[in-house]
Amino acid sequence: MNDLTWHPNGNWSEEFTTVVKDLELQAATSEDLLWSFVKGCGRMFYMVDPNDTTFESHEEVPKYFRQAWPYFVLFMVLENLILWIEREPVHRLNDSITSIGHGIIQESGRLLFRGAESCVYVYVYENFRMVEISWREPSAWYLAALGVDFCYYWVHRACHEVQILWAQHQVHHSSEEFNLAVGLRQSVVQGWCGFIFYLPLAFVLPPALFITHQQFNLLYQFWIHTKTVKTLGPLEFLFNTPKHHRVHHGSNLYCLDTNYGGVLIIWDRLFGTFAEEREKEEIIYGLVYNQPSFNPIHLQTFYTAYVVERFRSMDCWSHRLAAIFYGPSWQPGKPRLGLEEDKINVVAREKYEVKLPLWCNIYLLVHFCVVVYGFQELASRHVNMSPFAVLCFVLYIIGSLTTIGMLFDNKPHACVFELLRCMVLVTAVQRLDFPDIQQSTLLAAECFFLASGLFWFLQCVNVLQITKTKQH
Ligand SMILES: [Zn+2]
Ligand SMILES: [Zn+2]
Repeated sequence: MNDLTWHPNGNWSEEFTTVVKDLELQAATSEDLLWSFVKGCGRMFYMVDPNDTTFESHEEVPKYFRQAWPYFVLFMVLENLILWIEREPVHRLNDSITSIGHGIIQESGRLLFRGAESCVYVYVYENFRMVEISWREPSAWYLAALGVDFCYYWVHRACHEVQILWAQHQVHHSSEEFNLAVGLRQSVVQGWCGFIFYLPLAFVLPPALFITHQQFNLLYQFWIHTKTVKTLGPLEFLFNTPKHHRVHHGSNLYCLDTNYGGVLIIWDRLFGTFAEEREKEEIIYGLVYNQPSFNPIHLQTFYTAYVVERFRSMDCWSHRLAAIFYGPSWQPGKPRLGLEEDKINVVAREKYEVKLPLWCNIYLLVHFCVVVYGFQELASRHVNMSPFAVLCFVLYIIGSLTTIGMLFDNKPHACVFELLRCMVLVTAVQRLDFPDIQQSTLLAAECFFLASGLFWFLQCVNVLQITKTKQH
């Protein structure tokens, strides 16, 4: 930064010009930052400029979803602020950390597979496309937006009507809360589940357009997970909104198997799956047959184990196949989606809650933040890392989130797992090579995990007495 003092070898006009240039540069940088922030916010609502978001090759498409994490956090902070002002219950730490943890696990899976789920789409487009659509054509951009949303409707509907797909998608419905964090609660294999439903687009749409719009479609679905937006008036007719999506997440009988739309709600209106929110009936969120837990691995896998068990219990092959491909409410001798009268109407139930002491919640929050930091580091460095190193990092993230979940559940032996995790991390920091990380940071990490491990060691041998109260 220059100052306006007189230099014997310079002159005033040169100095002044430099200062003005610096100020202009700073103003331009601030303007750029502000503009990129506005554009980032716009992307959360599918408000984007087609010229800015059209690419020739699918490799050029930015990772919009990954770039949106700061906005996810910002929107969640704002939501909590509004809830607090309205004197409504704010996010529960255990539930929201579980939800965000699922989002991190899903995104870590994407880093590991490096976008391989799009390979089939690219292969079909390159070998079997039926028409040649110019990627520059603005009409192609709008066609892609509509096509992706139409396919999403059917993917989502299939996820609710086919037992094995529901076994994955139920993760998204497993929270008893309805807030923005739930928007991030996804199955780790969600991206792989429904790719076949998008394949018809590959006969027509270039991969870059498909990948761009699939990301915007998913981003849009984040903000509709909120109770803070009551209604959007006439927009409710066309768009999927928080009002419509609240119904989709309900366990009440009238809510089941309704409002599958992604961005547009017109698909539900067209195909007879639309349901209007009933203001006088409180919506009960979560699964009909709830299996509450804060352990992400349990939530990701328990339903698949149940499907396998059900498959085995059937007496003939037609029933076994039906147990996998028919709806979750199907019973032998009943229609594909089961009978309405057999379905349970959930009207009221107490939320699953485990009360932990304040220090424990602070401990878990701090360690969760360390995991988030690690995830951000992985996201920015994974391209230059070996697949094995990425795998180790992903295992660290999944292992850490699982242990945090077990502690939130107050499971027996959870403190032993946490002690082991801390010790493994101390050893990893000591023994492994981290060329890009400063020594002081490594030392701080080592001390942090060592102190945490020591604490849990004392806890395990009952030197420290900690009272825990449990409520179901
Ligand atoms: Zn759903
Ligand atoms: Zn949802």
